[in-house]
Amino acid sequence: MIIDNLREVENKIKSACEKVNRNADEVTLISVSKTKPVSMLMEAYNGGARVFGENKVQEIMDKFEAMPQNVEWHMIGHLQRNKVKYIIDKVKLIHSVDSIRLAQTIEQEAAKKDIIMPILIEVNIAEEESKFGVTEDETEALVQEISNYPHVRICGLMTIAPYVENAEENRDIFRRLKKLSVDIESKNYNNVTMSVLSMGMTGDYEVAVQEGATMVRVGTGIFGERNYQI
Ligand SMILES: *Cc1c(COP(=O)(O)O)cnc(C)c1O
Repeated sequence: MIIDNLREVENKIKSACEKVNRNADEVTLISVSKTKPVSMLMEAYNGGARVFGENKVQEIMDKFEAMPQNVEWHMIGHLQRNKVKYIIDKVKLIHSVDSIRLAQTIEQEAAKKDIIMPILIEVNIAEEESKFGVTEDETEALVQEISNYPHVRICGLMTIAPYVENAEENRDIFRRLKKLSVDIESKNYNNVTMSVLSMGMTGDYEVAVQEGATMVRVGTGIFGERNYQI
């Protein structure tokens, strides 16, 4: 069942790309496996999934140990500064950087390990109060400051769009994130690229792909509904 879901999501990404003349290779599907057991992750793995997204540090640590080595882990949730040290050498990309203080901690921990940590800036385009992320207006100043950190590399932007019934309602949000990334790219900050746009979830990833997403984060559409009561 998980493999069928995975194929369906992959096919929909392909169709969305064809609609706007994009190459499907430009879009990475992140299988968002939070709350799901390793047995289900392994089903996706056996169907070809190699990129997994999690939003809790402890879950990344546990699943990192349990899953094959060639899996790529992405931290997509809010990250507390005192927990950066546990995942800094386990994750390929941190999608959720939204403050100087968090970036400073990542800089310190990455320096200790002598690595350069790729990150995205999380932008709260919709300005929902319940969500993390900086506003559109604050983004460029944050990028500029972090661009000076030698062990942190900004690779692009991420947003979590609101939950909507009709995905079209989020099209404008995705356009705005894309536009912001193009604006920032044009400033040519040292050590900054805007090659990654992480946007689109189960309800709206096709629209996000049409608007330029290079990473979509799909959980429910692959693994089914989550049960947080467990
Ligand atoms: C849970 C989560 C997702 C996946 O959500 P679905 O609607 O289940 O696809 C994507 N991004 C983030 C940041 C999440 O926390």
